[in-house]
Amino acid sequence: MKIFLASKNQDKISEIKKILSRNSIDLLTCYDIDIPDVEENGSTFVENALLKAKSASKTTGLASIADDSGIEVDYLNGRPGVISARYSGTDATNEKNNLKLLEELDGVPFEKRKACYRCVIVFMRFPEDPFPFISSGSWTGYIADKPKGSNGFGYDPIFYLSDYKKTSAEISPNEKNKISHRSIALRKFEEFIGNII
Ligand code: IMP
Repeated sequence: MKIFLASKNQDKISEIKKILSRNSIDLLTCYDIDIPDVEENGSTFVENALLKAKSASKTTGLASIADDSGIEVDYLNGRPGVISARYSGTDATNEKNNLKLLEELDGVPFEKRKACYRCVIVFMRFPEDPFPFISSGSWTGYIADKPKGSNGFGYDPIFYLSDYKKTSAEISPNEKNKISHRSIALRKFEEFIGNII
């Protein structure tokens, strides 16, 4: 089955491709068909994932899947949440976003630095699909006091996993893909799609 993956984020694309690799899904991306950028102006991960899947399906004429994700920090009342990718402003980079978060949590003790990665996956068979498939996954950790590790992307160097005593940038990509918010949401999608292929 041909499915278009509505993402321009190379790191996400490679994680999603690896997680879904054992299926007979032919995953096409913006490197196969160019798609316009979508303004992610929803107030929830679900709204933004729907916007991206719908727009991609309209452009490509294919069934489309979208991921909207981010990190919520308890001490910051859930920020950065849906604006995780652009937390430090219009010229945001992963490094600047991490630095901003570390500055905001400067002096905050470990036990108050709880955080949660969220991922919502939306699959739409066609742009006006009245019954989109929606799944979600969460992954809990703590915001470390400094970045460590070079695997992963985004907030991974500062997302500390107490079970591993490592950040999610220090564990291997294979390990991350077994336990992450994205893998939890995608396993549910796999189960759904397995029943319709
Ligand atoms: P969006 O879904 O494209 O709006 O952006 C998601 C943003 O959340 C990314 O750019 C990262 O900053 C962050 N994020 C989501 N998932 C992960 C992850 O697995 N590791 C690190 N950062 C992530």
